[in-house]
Amino acid sequence: MKPQTASLISRRRFLGTTTAAAVGLLAESRAGQPAKAMKYRRLGRTNLQVSEIGLGCASGLRSQQLGPELFNRYREELPAIVQKLLDRGGNFVSTSASYHDTEEILGRALKGRRNEALIFTATSPKRDVKTIMAACERSLERFQTDVIDGYFGHGGWSDAFGEAAQKLKQQGKIRFVGMSCHVPEEHRVRVEAGVVDFILQPYNYMNLAKWTEQTDRVGTEQLFELCKKKDVGVMVIKPMTGHFIPNWAKQTNDPKVAGLLKELKAQGTENLYQAFLMWVLKNRNVSCAIVGMNTAQDVVEDCAAVTQKFRASHERLLEQYAALATGDYCRMCETCLTVCPAQVRVPDIFRFRMYYQNYGHRRDARELYASLARHQQATACTECGRCENVCPGHLSIVPKLKAAHALLA
Ligand code: SF4
Ligand code: SF4
Repeated sequence: MKPQTASLISRRRFLGTTTAAAVGLLAESRAGQPAKAMKYRRLGRTNLQVSEIGLGCASGLRSQQLGPELFNRYREELPAIVQKLLDRGGNFVSTSASYHDTEEILGRALKGRRNEALIFTATSPKRDVKTIMAACERSLERFQTDVIDGYFGHGGWSDAFGEAAQKLKQQGKIRFVGMSCHVPEEHRVRVEAGVVDFILQPYNYMNLAKWTEQTDRVGTEQLFELCKKKDVGVMVIKPMTGHFIPNWAKQTNDPKVAGLLKELKAQGTENLYQAFLMWVLKNRNVSCAIVGMNTAQDVVEDCAAVTQKFRASHERLLEQYAALATGDYCRMCETCLTVCPAQVRVPDIFRFRMYYQNYGHRRDARELYASLARHQQATACTECGRCENVCPGHLSIVPKLKAAHALLA
């Protein structure tokens, strides 16, 4: 059901022009719960006050790789995640039409609470104007709303997207226009041209956009400075590197991980995720960190990051973490696949081991391992060592393969 004009006006006033403190207070009194400590920042020229922590839904895509059990669990959990975020004062949800049925799930989850959330969604810019406009109409239907707050080109920009977005804006179907991509230089061109109100850019302590794709931190921070100058809003995606950190940090039976977490807790920081979020948010040119939260508990923990102050001791622990994790954890870069004469599926095997060990999905993990052809399993390894020579993480692949086989076979 589409919101009435009056409620839209009140929502805009609520989300766009009230002071940060007032927004936090209103969100709390609505839920009738104890005071929450969400903080808000202005999103550039949009003048929207966005919560420092927002929800991203790339897990809708990623969890498909985790097998049907995890994928459906994520879809079932998403409404509770949204509710918890709103209850904690978060006011920002973001997805893309290409992230499976997350738009529909979000639309249902926001029913009755639409006025508390800013909806940002995206489509591929590699289409013609008519197709992009039709895609936006479908997104509006799936969200059960008559306006999308932020509409962006997913993974880039095109003249067609720019033209379609302007038309949609004139028709009142979207409010603000932006783009997402991994390359600061591509954003820079559009920011300089004045065509975007906001951008979504990867930014994290590890300088990773995906498992292994390096990002240019200096270039990114210079881009953020430019955005400030041009009054373009900055939203950060992959603040935790796109799942590299969470997966590694779940190995709590590893004494190195356990030691690191103990030190973090000693200074009041619950987990590594919080430390990574605090690092991102210490950059005042960033308005919002968009996080792929998978459970309601993730929301509670991630939102708590805004209440803490990033200190030099956090920086030291993150340095330690980076050194440990990169030397111990498979980034799924697939470099080893290019040199393995036996065609062993090393990254897949390590991924299945992660499902088994870190997520506790033993049956899924074993089934996935069994689905590999014999010559792709760990037993096909001839111990030639070529993979270890090229692995950017300098992993001891051969013994790790043996350990994985012992768990999964
Ligand atoms: S050590 Fe094993 S997994 Fe690595 S390249 Fe050689 S055969 Fe492949
Ligand atoms: S084992 Fe090393 S080379 Fe292979 S995918 Fe993992 S990180 Fe990359």
